[in-house]
Amino acid sequence: QWAALFISDLHLSPDMPHTAKAFFNFLNTKALQTQALYLLGDIFEYWAGDDDINDVFNQSIVSALAAVSKHGIKIYWLAGNRDFLVGDKFADACGLQILNEPVITEIAGKKILTLHGDAQCTDDTAYMTFRAQVRDSAWQQHFLNQDLHQRKALIATMRAGSKDAQKNKSMAIMDVNLAAIDALFESHQVNLMVHGHTHRPHQHQHQTKQGVCTRFVLPDWDYDAEKTRGGW
Ligand code: MN
Repeated sequence: QWAALFISDLHLSPDMPHTAKAFFNFLNTKALQTQALYLLGDIFEYWAGDDDINDVFNQSIVSALAAVSKHGIKIYWLAGNRDFLVGDKFADACGLQILNEPVITEIAGKKILTLHGDAQCTDDTAYMTFRAQVRDSAWQQHFLNQDLHQRKALIATMRAGSKDAQKNKSMAIMDVNLAAIDALFESHQVNLMVHGHTHRPHQHQHQTKQGVCTRFVLPDWDYDAEKTRGGW
């Protein structure tokens, strides 16, 4: 049995049935062998609002998470840049707890800083501007006041725009800024960090003022691609 498992960036959507299947398989096996499961963002490809919870696909995810929670496993949720509109209704239905990043959690006697990772991509100034807008509560309220069909149409436009924008950005710009990472280690006085978002799984060592710190970057999941990927 594990103390905790971390996953992120599954980008679950009905278009990727094998990825959803791999997630269900993970929840029925690995997730039942841990005390705590940390969902570190972009579990969904998008989330239009908690009133979309009755959608057949969304309901299948909610039921699977609720089954894990009913086994007594604590599930924690940190918002990603695609599913930050998840709210209390979703949390209650899944039996999970929403946390606001960055979160310091103590696991097996070790302090670990957990976050999604997009807020540290500070070199991508266009994205940071966009992020500030969509994380603003007034913007979110205005967005959620539109009907679900309108929201889904707007999200489709945003997803297409995001794909186009990424084509013109370098790999370096879309990675985390190392100074932003060091600042996090130092301001929170921790030497372990776990995040996702960049889709570049790796174990990094950072030389900071407080010594060597370790940063784990989680993989994204794609079991619909020819060469499958995923992990925890
Ligand atoms: Mn992300």
